[in-house]
Amino acid sequence: MITEEQQQRLQDLKKVFLEENQKLNLSALRDEDAIWIGNISDSLVALDLEIFHAPDIKILDVGTGGGFPLLPLAICLPDTQFVGLDSTKKKLDAVSRMTDALGIENVRMLAGRCEEKGRDQQHRNQYDIVTARAVAPLNILLEYAAPFVKPGGHFIAWKSMKVDTELEESLLARAELSCHLNQQYEYELPGDWGKRQLLVFEKTSTTSGKYPREIGIPKLHPLL
Ligand code: SAM
Repeated sequence: MITEEQQQRLQDLKKVFLEENQKLNLSALRDEDAIWIGNISDSLVALDLEIFHAPDIKILDVGTGGGFPLLPLAICLPDTQFVGLDSTKKKLDAVSRMTDALGIENVRMLAGRCEEKGRDQQHRNQYDIVTARAVAPLNILLEYAAPFVKPGGHFIAWKSMKVDTELEESLLARAELSCHLNQQYEYELPGDWGKRQLLVFEKTSTTSGKYPREIGIPKLHPLL
């Protein structure tokens, strides 16, 4: 249930995001309706999944960029602790200005690459849920995201409906990184936005010490 106050904060997010997006190139979406549907509503679909409503969980958004799905979810789940990770400092600074402007208190920013932070014991195996939208193809993305997930926790990837090849090409990555595809949650956004899906993975055991590999290697030599 999204409260009236949260609805108002989501509207405020749309405005501050537009302002930041004029200064920095955070997103190709540049008008209010597009930001509302393509970024905010698209992020909030995750609230349909029960796992997001468990108490005392920690959520990490990898490659958060301009703050999606991080910020809409943090607004609607104020009792949950969120961390937003990105390698581009100026984007994180923009997200911090937005959280300050909106008084969002349950979000912390983490600057760095997934390949290095995924080996940092403060973050490795520490999160109940890891999210990622528009960051990388699945076989690369699993290597970026899985090391952060607690065994028994979940990784959620926002994807289009055309994911068959990515799924096929992620078989080795799923096996190597102990990620089991539990669910493909399909949804439809209004107007021309059409159908999309959340891929819900469960991490079935701790990540092998081999992963993540050195900075740049997952992208250069994806698990195939
Ligand atoms: N998730 C946001 C969204 O849906 O609007 C931003 C998507 S943007 C296309 C991808 C982001 O992933 C960029 O901000 C980039 O800096 C970040 N990124 C890509 N590879 C990364 C890595 N290995 N470690 C950390 N951040 C990474």
